[in-house]
Amino acid sequence: MDDMNLVELVQQFADDEKCRAYIEALRWPKGVTCPRCKGEKVYSILKRDQFVCDSCSYQFSATAGTIFHDTHLPLWKWFLATYLLCESRKGMSANQIKRMLGISYKTAWYLCHRIRKAMQETAPEPLGGTVEIDETYVGGKKRRWRPKSVKQVVIGIRQRNGDLRLIRAKDATSATVRDIINANLGSHVEVIVTDESAIYPWALNKMQTNKHRTINHTRQYAHGDVHTNTVESAFSLLKRGIVGTWHKVDAKHLPAYLDEMCFRFNNRKNPYLFRDTIIKLIASSNIEYKELTAKEQDVA
Ligand SMILES: [Zn+2]
Repeated sequence: MDDMNLVELVQQFADDEKCRAYIEALRWPKGVTCPRCKGEKVYSILKRDQFVCDSCSYQFSATAGTIFHDTHLPLWKWFLATYLLCESRKGMSANQIKRMLGISYKTAWYLCHRIRKAMQETAPEPLGGTVEIDETYVGGKKRRWRPKSVKQVVIGIRQRNGDLRLIRAKDATSATVRDIINANLGSHVEVIVTDESAIYPWALNKMQTNKHRTINHTRQYAHGDVHTNTVESAFSLLKRGIVGTWHKVDAKHLPAYLDEMCFRFNNRKNPYLFRDTIIKLIASSNIEYKELTAKEQDVA
């Protein structure tokens, strides 16, 4: 199941029955248990793709209580959309998903948001080693009749040979950046590389200041190992994603797009990315079910 290409995906998940069996296997690797009473004695009602619990008589399907339940969308379209979002380096717009899956724009938009939500890292590990920190501004096209541009601040933190974090910040002040740094760096940080922006000396604590190295971008882009090139390349990927794929990102949804990009970036070497994302989708519903069903009326 690793490094699956599109042809293999289509063959493997050609219909809902195959998708349901896959969900069942991922959800209950040690055998089906009752979601209600955790009972282990469960019978299948093959005719209706259901299970019945011997102790509490609860009838349920493989998708019961998950994001895939109560969806009008065939499971194989969920799987295909998940695959496409995992595999496209710069992300995919709802319009692309709409065309490729033959569904309405609203359905595609809603689907992408739910997959994106499942991609969120729920308990990220603190970053260490050598980290690069930089800030960038996205969105808020300057318009002549609207002098105040509403650009969003994004702080990027990248552990060399490790994970990337992209965080929307309310502003680029030292106090805001300090909170973001402290929430994302562990005490095992060895070197912190930034440019010579005045934000960072005030944002770093004493311990961090001792590890701080700066690069002057007006003179040079790298001084040996002291550079912020890897976080900058992530920024350029983000900007190409926003310009080329998502076109106009609502400020409200920016954090979700940032999380999606980080998820893909941090899993770029994961041969089981599709499977792991389906596992995250199965798990994500239990927390978000109410919120998701409240939005159900938006689905065409
Ligand atoms: Zn039961």
